[in-house]
Formats: sequence, structure tokens, C-alpha cells
Amino acid sequence: MALEIHLVPCLKDNYAYLLHEPASGETAAVDPSEAAPVMKAAAARGWRLTHILNTHHHWDHTGGNLALKDATGASIVGPAPDRDRIPGIDVALDEDDCFRLGDRAALVLFIPGHTRGHIAFHFADDQAVFCGDTLFALGCGRMFEGTAPQMWSSLCKLRALPGPTRVYCGHEYTQANARFALTVDRDNPDLAARALAVDATRAAGRPTVPSTMAEERAANPFLRADQQALADAVGLPGGDPAEVFAAIRQRKDNF
Ligand SMILES: [Zn+2]
Repeated sequence: MALEIHLVPCLKDNYAYLLHEPASGETAAVDPSEAAPVMKAAAARGWRLTHILNTHHHWDHTGGNLALKDATGASIVGPAPDRDRIPGIDVALDEDDCFRLGDRAALVLFIPGHTRGHIAFHFADDQAVFCGDTLFALGCGRMFEGTAPQMWSSLCKLRALPGPTRVYCGHEYTQANARFALTVDRDNPDLAARALAVDATRAAGRPTVPSTMAEERAANPFLRADQQALADAVGLPGGDPAEVFAAIRQRKDNF
């Protein structure tokens, strides 16, 4: 049966997610930075945690792993290249591996750049991707352990997913991302409209996540580094997309 997906705000601006497959009752927590809000959200729905999925090793995505495993016996699933850095890991996955939750399946995408072992979980039948800190709504993660060509290649892999795919990222950074995006993609009507919608959503106290891949392709400057407007904006007309991407990322780091 189709996955039920519930967003769980954690810490200051992190999002964990609960995925529930009703037929089997299996339930996964994605990137639990802390245990308490995830346990509370699962209990409120009568869901029992069976899996914990980590997109990468950062503490604000794995901090709840051990407490949740202790409390529920859930199996911890994460990226194979980071098996030494994921607390309590039981199952290590590589590119193109499959993760199953009840009768639903996710394909693992290897998307290094933010960290060297970062992965995403793409549930194609549920039109949902959990991409951690690689792709954000209207933004992308910092390159802590990777190069610009690597990050650009990872973003292109995500960008190729079907347009209706819902993008579940790791943080509520969208409003600040929109402010930056408007400085490098001034004449993009899709971005202008999206920025207004994001402001209204935040003013109403609601999450801006998930967006769709179609929306990100149209308005996220980090997915548009191969567009002439972006190359021109960073002073690299005709430039290599990975170099244009690097220049946009550098401006964002200093924004
Ligand atoms: Zn991170």
C-alpha cells in the first residue's frame, strides 16, 4: 500500500520523517536528529518503529539513532561508505541497492558532495525522494567533503527524477534560500512566484517542504547552473556548468 509520510520537526530547523506502510505496519524514521519528537509522533499514530534510515553521518541526522534503536529495536540503514560514522548501523547500502519497507521499495542514489558518503532514498512508486542535505528547497548543501563537479553531478542525478517527485530534504532553509536565489536568477518568473509563495507559507507557520522536483528544476539556482542566465549572473558566460555551479555555491557561502 502507498506510504504514509509524516514530517517531524526536530531541533531548530531540521526535519525528520516517518514513513509508514499500512499493510505490513512497518515504519521508518528518516534522519532522526533526536529521538523524543520522533517517538512522540510515532506513538500519536500508533506506529511502531521498525527502521531508521540515514542519508549521511552528520549528528543532526543521526543523533536519535541509538536511543530509538534501544527503545524499539529498529534496524539502522545507512550509506556503506560511512558505515564507520553512522551510530548503530545494521545495514549498509550502496548505489542502486534497494531498501524495502513492507511492499514499498526505495532505490538508493549515491549523491556525494555535502559528505563523501551521502545517499538518497527514492521511492519511485510513492513519488518521493529523501535527499538529506544534498538538495534543499531552492538550495543545496554546503560541500564539506566533496568537490563542485561531484556535487553538480549528484544534483543532476536528483534533477533527473520525474517532475512530480516530492522532495523531502533535511532542513527548513527555504526562505533564506529564496532570498539568495533572487540575487543570481533575477529574471526567472517561476522563482519570483515561488519566493512569494514561500513567504506566505512561512508567515502561516507551515513547512515549505516537500516541494516537487518540477518546482526545483524551474526555480532552484543550483539545478540551473547549465542555464545561460545563471552563467551570465556569475560572470562565466559559456562556462562549464560545474564551474558555474561552484561560483553560485561560493556566493551562497558568502551571502
Ligand atoms: Zn549534513
